[in-house]
Amino acid sequence: AQTRYASIRDKPAETLDGTTIQLMMNAGLMADLPSLAGSGAEGVGLFRTELQFLIRNQMPRRTELAELYSRVMDSAKGKRVVFRTLDIGSDKVLPYMAPQDEPNPALGWRAIRVGLDKPGVLRMQLQALLRAAAGRPLTVMFPFIAQYEEFTAAKAEMDKAVAREKILGHPLPSELRVGAMLETPSLGFAPQKFFEEVDFISIGGNDLKQFFFAADRENERVRRRYDTLNVSFLTFIEGIVNRCRSTQTPLSFCGEDAGRPLEALCLAAMGLRVLSMRPASIGPVKSLLRRTNLEEVRAIIHEARERGDQSVRNAVKEYLRTANP
Ligand code: PEP
Ligand code: MG
Repeated sequence: AQTRYASIRDKPAETLDGTTIQLMMNAGLMADLPSLAGSGAEGVGLFRTELQFLIRNQMPRRTELAELYSRVMDSAKGKRVVFRTLDIGSDKVLPYMAPQDEPNPALGWRAIRVGLDKPGVLRMQLQALLRAAAGRPLTVMFPFIAQYEEFTAAKAEMDKAVAREKILGHPLPSELRVGAMLETPSLGFAPQKFFEEVDFISIGGNDLKQFFFAADRENERVRRRYDTLNVSFLTFIEGIVNRCRSTQTPLSFCGEDAGRPLEALCLAAMGLRVLSMRPASIGPVKSLLRRTNLEEVRAIIHEARERGDQSVRNAVKEYLRTANP
């Protein structure tokens, strides 16, 4: 697939009507980094740090982590890497942490909730990230932020870590951006102040969709009932785009749907300008974006919504059939 899209690898994902979408890749291990050059991705929009914790049988040490993050940044050769702090709990259980017996782990003690209640590991991770960056730009985001206060508290941990490094006389990152993942509908309705204070927001569509529709992402039986191109979901996404526009908050989307061409196109039509996906999806997504008029797709989506369609999938597919014969 990589060779099939080689001719557009170094070309921008620019639509026929002149909108450029930034395509980034998702990663989680050192081994993913070579794809950065091969895929044509402009950076790593989501680096899932928990994978490196999951493949070990004991808690990694701070120096090990700092070395690892430093190597990730080296391999990215100056392109941005968005490090997401540990997202454990729910489907991702560390073998060396006491298992929690929870009736609904996806709604339970996971991700930033663990990081804030038991901040030891989060602090160690933030320190490792700061040390890895040393003089280079650093971008960090917190998973599963459901309310403004959780972001404030997590950001305070980062501020404390920076202050500690300063006292120790260690070099700080040349630039530090701290963002939040929007994975619960509640954050879409957070106060204006949240949108003003956060450096950027990344929509975690996998989780957001499961909570929006109350349909377990792991349960095939219910998961497939609800289409990402469902009008309610797209309207919610459009609302987040508009809120971010009003506060000029950079926004991206990093769930699996960003890597599905039709879904990516509709997300772009709703106003998303940064999409992060599996490296192999960059070519197919870029290819479709480059031969489509985004404003026309936007109009098709709005018409479908006015008609009362449940999903815009058929309307957009039909439009593409006639527009790109
Ligand atoms: C998401 O929820 O969309 C996401 C990117 O995070 P993960 O799939 O790791 O939960
Ligand atoms: Mg998630």
